[in-house]
Amino acid sequence: MAWGAIATWRMAHEGVEQALRLLAENEQAGNAVEVLIKTVEDYPYYKSVGYGGLPNAAGILEMDAAYMDGDSFKIGAVAGIQDVKNPISVAKKLSEEKFNSFRVGDGASAYAMLEGFERKNMLTRRAHRIWEKRLEEIRVHNLNPYDGHDTVGAITLDKKGSMAVGTSSSGLFMKEPGRVGDSPLSGSGFYVDSEIGGAAATGLGEDLMKGCLSYEIVRLMGEGFSPQAACDKAVYGFHEKLTRRYGKAGAFSLIAMNNKGEWGVATNVEFTFSVGNAQNEPQIFLANKGENQTTIIEPITKEWLEAYEKRIKAPID
Ligand code: ASP
Repeated sequence: MAWGAIATWRMAHEGVEQALRLLAENEQAGNAVEVLIKTVEDYPYYKSVGYGGLPNAAGILEMDAAYMDGDSFKIGAVAGIQDVKNPISVAKKLSEEKFNSFRVGDGASAYAMLEGFERKNMLTRRAHRIWEKRLEEIRVHNLNPYDGHDTVGAITLDKKGSMAVGTSSSGLFMKEPGRVGDSPLSGSGFYVDSEIGGAAATGLGEDLMKGCLSYEIVRLMGEGFSPQAACDKAVYGFHEKLTRRYGKAGAFSLIAMNNKGEWGVATNVEFTFSVGNAQNEPQIFLANKGENQTTIIEPITKEWLEAYEKRIKAPID
């Protein structure tokens, strides 16, 4: 029996472990993906998702999240939501609504309160301090403010063959108030069809939207491409096209899993992810763009992990 979970970035690993434990015990794909993403949202040292996420240029933490059910195509999403503990859970709940299933700003936050979701000040002192420091650096060194972002995007497959996908992000660091990235947008940030497979994205939302890459990867898998071949073709093909016609392509990374639990990734920047399935224990890998539209994937080293741990917890002066 096939089942599995894959998610973007090293930060998702503990969530992937949890999701796989649940899936092994017959949990549904939708519940497993929610638990996976909540694990990332709740961890204060991940500065691009949920609690501890970095605020926008005005110092306000605005979060985006989405959920999609691969059996029914139900989608729920929130954008620019504030002061809610788990945006993914709000998105999942919204997927049950026939109308008004994608809410933004105050409407999203009000819906969450009405439905009894936990209210929480999601801006930590640490995130606020990083923001203050960055403002100063931008002023003094005249830097590009749009640096540092990472979305958790995750795909799960359960023993019954159902699939789900979810995303959660505080978006681009120093984004302008009201800016929304690809993460809550169907087809760009995520897509899943249980009869084929799912895909999710992380990277520069403004560019990911130009290619609808999550949908494109699922479409290619539907045509018979393996998840790896579909990711390579969609991501590197679009990277080249965008560079040629738009002038340049921002950083982006995509993950995919099909309904057999096989997976793939492609990226134009150094990218980590975590994956496991019925055959393989969850593991963190490092991916890089290779030659001729291929991806180089290798297990993460102990040194890399130690340096990461130090980096995310380093004191902010
Ligand atoms: N895709 C996210 C956004 O543009 C950010 C990221 O994944 O790095 O909002």
